[in-house]
Amino acid sequence: MTSSSAPDHHLETRLVHEGHQRTPLGETSEALFLTQGFIYESAESAERRFLNEEPGYSYSRFSNPTVDAFEQRMASLEGAEAARATASGMAAVTAAMVGQVQAGDHVVAARALFGSCRWVVEDFLPRFGVGCTLVDGPDLNRWREAVRPETKAFLLETPSNPSLEIIDIAGVAAIAHEAGATLTVDNVFATPLFQRPLALGADCVVYSATKHIDGQGRCLGGVILASTEFIETKVQQFLRMTGPSLSPFNAWVLLKGLETLPLRVERQTATATHLADSLHDHPKLRRLTYPGRPEHPQAELIRRQMSGASTMIALDVRGGKEGAFRFLNALRLIRISNNLGDAKSLVTHPATTTHQRFTPEQRGEMGISDGLVRLSVGLEHRDDLLADIAGALTQV
Ligand SMILES: *Cc1c(COP(=O)(O)O)cnc(C)c1O
Repeated sequence: MTSSSAPDHHLETRLVHEGHQRTPLGETSEALFLTQGFIYESAESAERRFLNEEPGYSYSRFSNPTVDAFEQRMASLEGAEAARATASGMAAVTAAMVGQVQAGDHVVAARALFGSCRWVVEDFLPRFGVGCTLVDGPDLNRWREAVRPETKAFLLETPSNPSLEIIDIAGVAAIAHEAGATLTVDNVFATPLFQRPLALGADCVVYSATKHIDGQGRCLGGVILASTEFIETKVQQFLRMTGPSLSPFNAWVLLKGLETLPLRVERQTATATHLADSLHDHPKLRRLTYPGRPEHPQAELIRRQMSGASTMIALDVRGGKEGAFRFLNALRLIRISNNLGDAKSLVTHPATTTHQRFTPEQRGEMGISDGLVRLSVGLEHRDDLLADIAGALTQV
């Protein structure tokens, strides 16, 4: 059982072949090992496997060949030494953060985080005696000021969900390292194609594979990528013992998703760029934020840090919540849902859904106005999408 891709192959090639452990039956597509565990040939063999003295699988909470293939393909894509798959993106974020701290430690995080990620650092970790300071991510001085002697880990997301604010990964990584802390980056919005946090100095990258990596709205999944040392000392034991394991079935779906990831993300980004260019000065929009537009407030940093724009657009619809609701309800093709990175174009109203639990002031700090609509651009024809959006905006 060997992988059929070489490390010097191009990304597209590795995304089709890397990690594929073909069995002696010679199947073309990756085999799905939908099994909870594995048989030992003898009692002695079982003993040796538990002592880690004999290679092989024992139980799918620890490892599974289909999950391994997904992890290897993700590590190759990200340029990481090691990867560990999880049941969802939130399981990845939680394991990465919990695995790094203990009571008395402190974390610093950007305040513009995906709602559940912010809950993990702001509400959950403090229950166990881990302090948390939230900062205005784009301002590097705020990170520096937040550092304490007991600071162990930094967390950020860029571009942020949903306001598409950009944070300087290399700048924050340098501050973290100077403080003896690590930096974890939630890279969901950029996708592994457009931003390489590890190359920019981050210590750990997390994904919700539910988004672009599946890309067709089928299953949940997550992955943590870092050095072998980081994985083995900080997250491996937590994952094995607490059990947020990725189902082999979902790993298989995600493996197939990785084969087409570049095709989908490039097309979705090209369509998003066309929509942003066509709509940026629309009279029914207070503002359109898109990382590929020259008027994005951090356009210079985007050019330095990212190799592509985004499949996501933030539309600030005139008329606040009422205007946004009229727009959402008038869309015919684009549907209201909270997934993103999907083949189907989807819209979300963050202020009343994903970020509902925050106060209006907190939402304001995160750049989430009552009129803000998050648009995830799918694979439909760009003219059909533009017609749907333009038609719905007439109702605002
Ligand atoms: C969706 C998302 C998550 C959580 O992922 P799940 O797979 O839904 O658990 C975390 N971070 C970001 C930026 C996301 O968009």
